[in-house]
Amino acid sequence: MASMLLGASSDMIYRGHDAQAALGGDGYSAKKQHRPVGPCRARARALRYVLGEQRLVFALVGMAIASFVLLLAAPSGRHGAAVKTSGQELMSGSAAAGLAARQYTGVARMAYEEPRRVPGRVPLGLKRKGLRVVVTGGAGFVGSHLVDRLLARGDSVIVVDNFFTGRKENVLHHAGNPNFEMIRHDVVEPILLEVDQIYHLACPASPVHYKYNPVKTIKTNVVGTLNMLGLAKRVGARFLLTSTSEVYGDPLQHPQVETYWGNVNPIGVRSCYDEGKRTAETLTMDYHRGANLEVRIARIFNTYGPRMCIDDGRVVSNFVAQALRKEPLTVYGDGKQTRSFQYVSDLVEGLMKLMEGEHVGPFNLGNPGEFTMLELAKVVQDTIDPNARIEFRPNTADDPHKRKPDISRAKELLGWEPVIPLRNGLPLMVHDFRSRIFGDREPDASTAAAAGDD
Ligand code: NAD
Ligand code: UDP
Ligand code: UDP
Repeated sequence: MASMLLGASSDMIYRGHDAQAALGGDGYSAKKQHRPVGPCRARARALRYVLGEQRLVFALVGMAIASFVLLLAAPSGRHGAAVKTSGQELMSGSAAAGLAARQYTGVARMAYEEPRRVPGRVPLGLKRKGLRVVVTGGAGFVGSHLVDRLLARGDSVIVVDNFFTGRKENVLHHAGNPNFEMIRHDVVEPILLEVDQIYHLACPASPVHYKYNPVKTIKTNVVGTLNMLGLAKRVGARFLLTSTSEVYGDPLQHPQVETYWGNVNPIGVRSCYDEGKRTAETLTMDYHRGANLEVRIARIFNTYGPRMCIDDGRVVSNFVAQALRKEPLTVYGDGKQTRSFQYVSDLVEGLMKLMEGEHVGPFNLGNPGEFTMLELAKVVQDTIDPNARIEFRPNTADDPHKRKPDISRAKELLGWEPVIPLRNGLPLMVHDFRSRIFGDREPDASTAAAAGDD
């Protein structure tokens, strides 16, 4: 190599000498080789050189070809700010993530500083792609239903989940779909991905689960959300936070409107979740204001449906599993506390409308139909077993007395409202629980009939 370089350089020196010799100069001063010329003559010479041998025509044609190629190769994308080298466009998400990880420092800064690109440009020879979407917590109850909908509409989906409360079975039916990827990852750790949208759901949601390791719960809400916001900022993705009605605590306003600031105990056993989600909302708004990030905030009210964890301790899953197992329904306290129950498909519809819409929020997403726990027990008895017994148990600390969403804002600005009442949604969940508890894949007559009502 050294001799090649040497050869090359000595070759240049040698030719230089040749040229000098040919010109008859002494090789020390270029000025001595030429007769001095006036500026007019020099310009005329230059012009003759450019016009000679069709050099100008070649130069213009070259410039035209270069502009055309650059125009066609400009990247596409709905939000358009993700890092898109031509190589990465063609890669699967994990390969792109690997490449991104290697290029982190350089690419990260470049992507953040890049201006928004014009949508609609498609790389030469490629069809327009769907969105690349990350769903954190996508193996969980709500997340897995969201993943179903996103894949069905043609998006590429990457699920990021540590399987604390989620189950691979919830998304197993997508295995083999080239638009689907699953990454076992804890959002408390940083991650590098190239995407257009982030639905951030990762967080245990049932009181039993989030109280199990409260420090981990608040870390997930704070550090996990920070990491996902950092990711969104780096690639210019739109970010949606699934917050909760728990931000209202034990509310002193009823029903709860988004403008209500809540009544939350900051040092209680539920605080890791309630205050964690409140901080997650704060972070989300700070990135929105401070880093110009596109964000959306949903405040989700109690949601139920197929794929809930059977033994997660939430009231709907408890009552349904208990009634199916012929165990007494455990009503905590006097059973007069209220909740409003929303079927999962209504929620997913609301989340997608929120993500695609123009409004940051926060938006209450819930079903305003309000039930006491005793009334809920009655609906479960009517749906599964009229003879199911009720057993009273002491209530847990800081249990909110009532909860009902005011959804006027979502109705008006998102054009969204739930359409499945509890008596129609519950049978659909019962069918799923029956299958999972008893391995009975056939719906029984009463469940099928009730499910057909909606
Ligand atoms: P879920 O427990 O079924 O799903 C949560 C998912 O997040 C699980 O798959 C879990 O494994 C994953 N996860 C938890 N911690 C993680 C971590 N550190 N890193 C990566 N993954 C992690 O709960 P869900 O009911 O589907 O709730 C989803 C989201 O909606 C949560 O953010 C929850 O706070 C919110 N939410 C739900 C309800 C509801 O009634 N279901 C109500 C209000 C808010
Ligand atoms: N982060 C991440 N993936 C990314 C970019 C950032 O996980 O693609 C994490 C990063 O590790 C950091 C957090 O997100 O802890 C916040 O990132 P940001 O760039 O906003 O803050 P900074 O790194 O400057 O503190
Ligand atoms: N609850 C109940 N029996 C149960 C589980 C819960 O009566 O077996 C009550 C609980 O005390 C609370 C309500 O049901 O008042 C809703 O509890 P859940 O854990 O489902 O949700 P969250 O408290 O987060 O709204």
